[in-house]
Amino acid sequence: MASENIAAISTALSASGVAVIRISGDNPLSIAEKMFLPTGKTLVKDFEPYKMYVGEILADGFSDFGLCVYFKGPKSFTGEDIVEFHSHGGTAITKGILKKILTLGARLATNGEFTKRAFMNGKLSLSSAEGLIDMINSESVSGVKAGYYLYREKLTQEINDLQERITDVLAEVDADMDFPEEDLEKASTESVKTTLKYVIEKLDALLSTYRMGRTLKSGVQVGIVGKPNTGKSSLLNALLNYDKAIVSDIAGTTRDVVEGSIDIDGVRFNFSDTAGIRNSDDKVEELGVQLSERVLEQSDLLLLVIDGANVTAEDDALYQRVKDKNHIVAVNKIDKTDYKDDRADVYVSALKKENLSELKTLMFEKTVGANVDLNGDFLCEERHFDAINRAKEKLAAAFSAVDSVTLDVLSIDIKDGWDALGEISGRTATEDIINDIFKKFCVGK
Ligand code: GDP
Repeated sequence: MASENIAAISTALSASGVAVIRISGDNPLSIAEKMFLPTGKTLVKDFEPYKMYVGEILADGFSDFGLCVYFKGPKSFTGEDIVEFHSHGGTAITKGILKKILTLGARLATNGEFTKRAFMNGKLSLSSAEGLIDMINSESVSGVKAGYYLYREKLTQEINDLQERITDVLAEVDADMDFPEEDLEKASTESVKTTLKYVIEKLDALLSTYRMGRTLKSGVQVGIVGKPNTGKSSLLNALLNYDKAIVSDIAGTTRDVVEGSIDIDGVRFNFSDTAGIRNSDDKVEELGVQLSERVLEQSDLLLLVIDGANVTAEDDALYQRVKDKNHIVAVNKIDKTDYKDDRADVYVSALKKENLSELKTLMFEKTVGANVDLNGDFLCEERHFDAINRAKEKLAAAFSAVDSVTLDVLSIDIKDGWDALGEISGRTATEDIINDIFKKFCVGK
């Protein structure tokens, strides 16, 4: 099928050492012929695939000096012919090269169009494409790892293996359906049950990794709570090691919610300091209400900061709000008091940066857990979680009905389970699902 040449800047649009502008389609080399002057003797049309050539890139109104490489389809990212120009980075340079490519007949690629073509041409599965975008968007090591698991088709392989087993079960059920007056043969019943049980257990194991996978992908949400002036902003500052939060001596100074993120052992922790949600005339109750709305529900962990030099009933009112949630009580200002508190999990000084690593360790243990193998495989996409859940429900229904329902009914549930799993790799995904996924990509990927 003819495939129009599409082009885009594939690296970030900013001042940088080098940039990559690429073209994919039926004949990108014919465009390169008109805008690349090789330094060596080989003409562009005779370029050997996968080899870098040095030369002049003739852009729109100027030239740059760089590299050109030709990938011959189907051995390319998209499965089509691809030409890449490696130019110097910078917005004017890259835009000028792209503009030239477009005037020579290519069309500007839409979001994720290169990857969509790769998917359409069978170069990668839908879940692999999702892993790729997760990796690109990730700001933490754990997020990259979670994406890589998908990108390298490890989930697809697991799912394909389970689908094959389901196909075998279907074949067995269908074979017996040829004798409609009979029930499933005894031997078949047992083997169908064994296989379904195996598949269901595998799906359960995958589902159980989802919560952690989400955490590793999106990071841990930590809400910092505490009455005014306990040192919440100072503590956030100290943790971020960065002067982002505003520190003030006046209790209850209205401030915006201050946010920031840190990395603990490769996992991202996203903080919000709720100091700003309190007006100066707020009552404790009102503060409590605001907490329930804003922070209590949205945080994976609540960090209650108590001023060790000024403990009051207000601290306890807040403690009552957080104590049944995942929480840490940090007694702050230990540089000026040796106050001990039964509710405390850790004693810190934001000012002197004391015991912050203990606090970080505690935050990690209370959310990720001390014994989690971060190199393990985790389900991190809601779409996959939903599909596996649906598949499991159908197969579980089939499993419990093997002895009692007719074969055609059984076969419908099993087939539905197979279809739900197929959505993950894209074998049974609808056009809408596919389009939604590629919309999330940037242009140039
Ligand atoms: P917030 O209202 O809870 O955000 O509190 P701030 O971070 O604005 O701090 C209130 C005051 O307490 C400021 O004057 C800080 O310098 C001071 N403070 C914060 N942490 C400490 C600490 O660990 N030790 C001491 N001595 N003072 C602190």
